[in-house]
Amino acid sequence: MLTLAHFDWLYPMTSAPLQDAYLIMQGSEGGGTVLAMGTGEPPNCGGSRWDMHGTLALPGLVNSHHHLFQTLTRGYAPNQGLFAWLQSLFPLWGHLNPEAIYQSALIGLAELMLSGCTTTSDHLYIVPEGQDSMRFFEATIEAAKRLGIRLYVTRGAMTRGWDHGGRGPSNLIEDEDTVLQNMQDLVNRHHDPSPLAQIKVALSPVSLPAVSARFMKETARLAETLDVRLHTHGWETLDERQWVQNVYGTTELALFDEWGWLQDRTWFAHAVHANKEVIDLLGQRNVAISHCPTSNMRLGSGIAPIRSFLDAGNTVALGVDGSASNDGSHLLAEARQALLLARVLGGAAAMTVEEALHLATTQGAQALGWPEIGQLAVGLPADVAVFRIDDLFHSGAMAPLEALLFCQPVLAEVVVIGGEVRVWQGKIPGIDWSAEVARHQLLSRQLLETQK
Ligand SMILES: [Zn+2]
Repeated sequence: MLTLAHFDWLYPMTSAPLQDAYLIMQGSEGGGTVLAMGTGEPPNCGGSRWDMHGTLALPGLVNSHHHLFQTLTRGYAPNQGLFAWLQSLFPLWGHLNPEAIYQSALIGLAELMLSGCTTTSDHLYIVPEGQDSMRFFEATIEAAKRLGIRLYVTRGAMTRGWDHGGRGPSNLIEDEDTVLQNMQDLVNRHHDPSPLAQIKVALSPVSLPAVSARFMKETARLAETLDVRLHTHGWETLDERQWVQNVYGTTELALFDEWGWLQDRTWFAHAVHANKEVIDLLGQRNVAISHCPTSNMRLGSGIAPIRSFLDAGNTVALGVDGSASNDGSHLLAEARQALLLARVLGGAAAMTVEEALHLATTQGAQALGWPEIGQLAVGLPADVAVFRIDDLFHSGAMAPLEALLFCQPVLAEVVVIGGEVRVWQGKIPGIDWSAEVARHQLLSRQLLETQK
C-alpha cells in the first residue's frame, strides 16, 4: 500500500481539482490501482506514506508517438527537412542491432519517465537486413519491463525501397509477408488487451512513401483480425503530399479511406497539413491524431491546425516524436510547446493550459484506445506524475496549472506506475545511470564511426 499525502494540488483531469489532497494506491507490478482519493488527512491504510507538500499531482502523462531508437542519433542533420533528414540518417540506422535498440530504449524511456510520462508508444520501423526483427522489438520490451513503464509497441516497417519508387535504402526494406507474419507473432506473444497491461502491440507501416498499397491494405485487414490498433505518419510534409499526388494521382485522405485506415482503431502522427476535409472525415470516423509540435518545428514541417481539430471534437494526443527530430523526450515541455505553438497560429486564446494538459493525459489515452489511463479515479490504474511547484522555477506563480505550463518545464519529483514508485526525488533508483549513459554513448559513437 502506498499513500501520498498533502499534495498542494491534485488534478485528476476527469473530475474537479483537489487542494491539500491525498492518493492511496495498491501496488502490484503495473497492475496496481487507486484505492482512495480525497482531501485533508488521509486514513491510515498501512504500508508506505510520504508527504507531498509543495507539489502538484497529475495522472501519469501519455506519449502517443515516438521512435526510441533515435536517441542514438540526436542532433544530426540539423538544418534539413524530413526527407533530406531521413536520407542523412538511414546509413547510420542501417547498423542498428538488438543491443543498440535495447540501450536506446532504456535511455529514451528513462528520459520520458523523468518528465512525468508513465505510458509511451514506440514506432520502431528500422530492421536492417540480416537482423532478427523479433529480437528488435523484444529488446525494447525488455527495457520497458526493467523500468516499469507502460509501453505501446507499434510494429513499424519499410517495404518500398528507392528501386521501386519508394523512400528507403534497400538494406532497410523488409519482405511484406514476413513482416505481416511477424506482426501476428508479436501480437500473440506480447499484446495484453487489459486496462492494467504493461505491454500492448499495434501495427504501424512507417508512411505512405515507404510502403506499398498492398501492405497498407493487408495491415488494416490484419489489425481487424487480431483486434489491435493501427498507427502511421500522415499529412506530415508537403513533400509527402506531392509524392502521393505524383504516384497515385490522389490525396492521402482518399488512399487511407480506400485502404481501410479511417476507422476508430487508427491514430495518425502529425496531421500538419490537414485541411477541413481531413479534419471532418477523421472526426466522423473517430480517428485520433498525435500532435508533435517540437518535431514539426525542428524539421520545418509546418504548424498542425490543432484548434480546428479540437473545435471539431477530434481526439488530439501529444507526441515527443524523435528522438532525432526533437531531440529531447520531455513530455511536460511538449505540452508547453503545443500550447505556445497553437497561439502562434491562432492567437492567445487558441489553447488553454487545461487543454494542453488534456492532450498529454486524457486525449493521449483516447488516442491509444486505453481510456482507463490518463486520468486519476478510484479503481483505475495508479499512474501518477508529481511535480514540485514550490521551487525557484515556479516562485511567484500562484496559479498552479499556469505555474506548471508557463514557467520553465521541470522534471518530475515522483512518478508512480501501477502503484509502484518508479521515480523518486527526480531519480530512477536501482540503476547505475552513469554506466548506462556511458554504454549508450559508446554505441552512438560506434554508429557514427561506421560512416568513416
Ligand atoms: Zn515519427
